Amino acid sequence: MAQAYDVVVIGAGPGGYIAAIRAAQLGMNVACIEGWRNESGELSLGGTCLNVGCIPSKALLASSEAYELVRESYDAHGIGVDGLRLDIGKMQARKAGIVKKMTKGIEFLFRKNKVTWLKGFGRFVGYEDDAYRIEVADEEADGAPAQLVDAKHVIIATGSKPRALPGLEVDNRIVCDNVGALAMTEVPARLGVIGAGVIGLELGSVWRRLGAEVTVLEALPTFLAAADEGVRKEAWKQFKAQGLRIELDARIAGVEVGDSGARVRYSIGEGEPQTLDCDRLIVSVGRVPNTEGLGLDAIDLAVDERGFVPVDEHCRTKAPNVWAIGDVVRGPMLAHKAEDEGVMVAERIAGQDPHIDYGMIPWVIYTSPEIAWVGRTEEQLKKEGRAFKAGQFPFSANGRALGTGHSAGFVKVLADAATDEVLGVHIVSGAASELIAEATLAMEFRASAEDIGRVSHPHPSMSEALREASLAATDKRSLNA
Ligand code: FAD
Ligand code: AMP
Repeated sequence: MAQAYDVVVIGAGPGGYIAAIRAAQLGMNVACIEGWRNESGELSLGGTCLNVGCIPSKALLASSEAYELVRESYDAHGIGVDGLRLDIGKMQARKAGIVKKMTKGIEFLFRKNKVTWLKGFGRFVGYEDDAYRIEVADEEADGAPAQLVDAKHVIIATGSKPRALPGLEVDNRIVCDNVGALAMTEVPARLGVIGAGVIGLELGSVWRRLGAEVTVLEALPTFLAAADEGVRKEAWKQFKAQGLRIELDARIAGVEVGDSGARVRYSIGEGEPQTLDCDRLIVSVGRVPNTEGLGLDAIDLAVDERGFVPVDEHCRTKAPNVWAIGDVVRGPMLAHKAEDEGVMVAERIAGQDPHIDYGMIPWVIYTSPEIAWVGRTEEQLKKEGRAFKAGQFPFSANGRALGTGHSAGFVKVLADAATDEVLGVHIVSGAASELIAEATLAMEFRASAEDIGRVSHPHPSMSEALREASLAATDKRSLNA
């Protein structure tokens, strides 16, 4: 007899593990299937985000930022450092320790909430007596037989995997995806990055700060096309000043991989053929939904033309009581979006009626300076024909930013011309990832720019720049600029 559950979640990334915990909190009998193995071959919860995405990248970004600060900025504080050394092994061990703490933390949370971890990969095998039958198998576990489980509700949370460039094999030695790019044990002298999206810019920044000469080749003629134009221009200026070489409108003709490096043949637009020789090459040209081996045929579910599992605004698929969340469905490939969907689906299964406002999901790029935004850009508002007011405040006029050495960048607030409702907030700054949360909260509560401007903000703090930009948007009168 197959073990029966109210809810089976397939995948334990930020979407799946959060959905499992929330469903268990709401009184359901829940299992979560996950067969991810880490570099040491141990089974590990947490998916891409915790194992090879958000968490390890932020650990290395912090280490590399610390190194660059000591090298470039300590002198201005009157601190001299002799004999600065770099121990990549130790840096990687710190990263691994953080990943382990976080992934083990999910095991603890599963135990605490009585979520059963089914170790292996799940595959739909059929539907009978109002229940979905799923086979769980772990090919890497010696002799462990596959098991069958039944579920009234299934949440597909199988995430995404790196998109490959046709004809270019990732070996995670010379040619790396995110896994290899996060695991390098020495700083490459010359690093090539194909794709100037979030992942390419963050991982390129890590290795540039540690001393690599980094060249990023981007297919689009526009840099960071999704961001507000003012933000794009400021980020471009800052990255160039740091020595990051970014080539736009780059067309890759081919890549030759040798024992110690790679040669990328490309042209800029219709220009002359060029070559880029590098010791390591990161391929970061986006991610694709992961439905491999999931057995969707067995429940008559088809993916769309881009490989995503089609869902409605509440993450319901066409198959009754089958839901899908996170990177495997439409919408931004962001961990917090996956988590929000996990909570929404668990609560819907429990009979509640939550929803997600997809227009209020914040974006962050953890470069230096960080880039973050929520809501609409100026371009989007112009396209929509919506009359708006813009207020901007530079961090160079913020005392806290000057003190901490984060005086580059600005906050821009966009508000409706008639109602003053905040429609978008765009930040380039060392603290953007934290500051954007206040803007998101304000927008969720449909705050006006004046509301933010009237709220007391701690002094001195970088959050004052959001207040000042809001004052500038509401009636063009910042107090400190
Ligand atoms: P995933 O995290 O991909 O997890 C899916 C899980 O499903 C995996 O563990 C997989 O093993 C499992 N699985 C797949 N098939 C099966 C099966 N058949 N049976 C059982 N299990 C299965 N996002 C942010 O918001 N902020 C960031 O700073 C950020 N940084 C990133 C940095 C990098 C380098 C990368 C690569 C991504 C980053 N992301 C970031 C994106 C973020 O990691 C994803 O949006 C997020 O992990 C999606 O969560 P998910 O639960 O949908 O899928
Ligand atoms: P993201 O979707 O944020 O991971 O970003 C991926 C980036 O890679 C985007 O900016 C794409 O335009 C870029 N990209 C996709 N394909 C190619 C390619 N063949 N060559 C260079 N850049 C690419």
